[in-house]
Amino acid sequence: MQIIKTIKEMQSMSRKLRAEGRTMGLVPTMGALHEGHLSLVRYSRGENDLTVVSIFVNPVQFGPDEDYQKYPRDKEGDLGKLLALDVDAVFMPYNSEMYPDDFSISVRTGSTGQVLCGVSRPGHFDGVATVVAKLFNAVMPDRAYFGQKDYQQTVVIKKLARELNFGTEVVVCPIVRELDGLAMSSRNAYLNDEQRSASLILYRALKLGEKLILSGGMADVLLVREEMVRLIETESLVDMDYVEIVNPDDLAPIQAITPPVLICIAVKIGNTRLIDNIIVRLSK
Ligand code: AMP
Repeated sequence: MQIIKTIKEMQSMSRKLRAEGRTMGLVPTMGALHEGHLSLVRYSRGENDLTVVSIFVNPVQFGPDEDYQKYPRDKEGDLGKLLALDVDAVFMPYNSEMYPDDFSISVRTGSTGQVLCGVSRPGHFDGVATVVAKLFNAVMPDRAYFGQKDYQQTVVIKKLARELNFGTEVVVCPIVRELDGLAMSSRNAYLNDEQRSASLILYRALKLGEKLILSGGMADVLLVREEMVRLIETESLVDMDYVEIVNPDDLAPIQAITPPVLICIAVKIGNTRLIDNIIVRLSK
């Protein structure tokens, strides 16, 4: 497993592999790897000749009051997990390599990045799109793998790849959950025991929404939202940011529910922000 620290080295490896006609999958991560990340690696390994995992905690996607400094980092643990999965290369660029002092260009995601999580995290998706554009240019992958867990991010990245003409296919992979339903996230490590049990309300609320739509035949967005919000409010440790039911293609608001629809939730438990979502389809 090669550890690559510079963009130049990454690009020259990529050019060499392309010249040999080999395909490459990229799994972009911020490290502190868990089964959710590793599932993306397995998808990539199954569909490409080589898999590159990037580990980079991207400063420009964190707001000034967010957790950039204390974001979990576990370099040795991460490398061990990737070695066990037979990953070909890990791209771990230096901060100064990605963002030299005079760095001033960035990607603007427009309205797609300003709804849902973009409301309470202004600039977040511009930061994500900027780093992903840089990673695509450094790695030049045939395919790049993202989790449905960060649903809005997948919509932004697909749009980025299409509108800025990256020749990279964006592959979205299913959410990996703990046995009790909590979506895996590096940020779950911040939760104490009480908060960890309170966090189960996210998945319970999503499943309630799904049930109301599928077996209850409820087609009114406001009514479904209301029931979900009522359930979430029974958990005193949870501060709701939003519960929304939107069009899964472009995140646009919908009036009446005609599946497929995306139900998405964001909450804060203490200082920890958690998100989750579910796509409700007529047949599974
Ligand atoms: P992060 O390190 O949080 O930036 O996540 C890196 C990638 O892993 C993103 O594409 C995430 O959507 C994906 N990911 C994170 N958690 C999960 C999960 N529980 N299931 C599937 N993919 C995930």
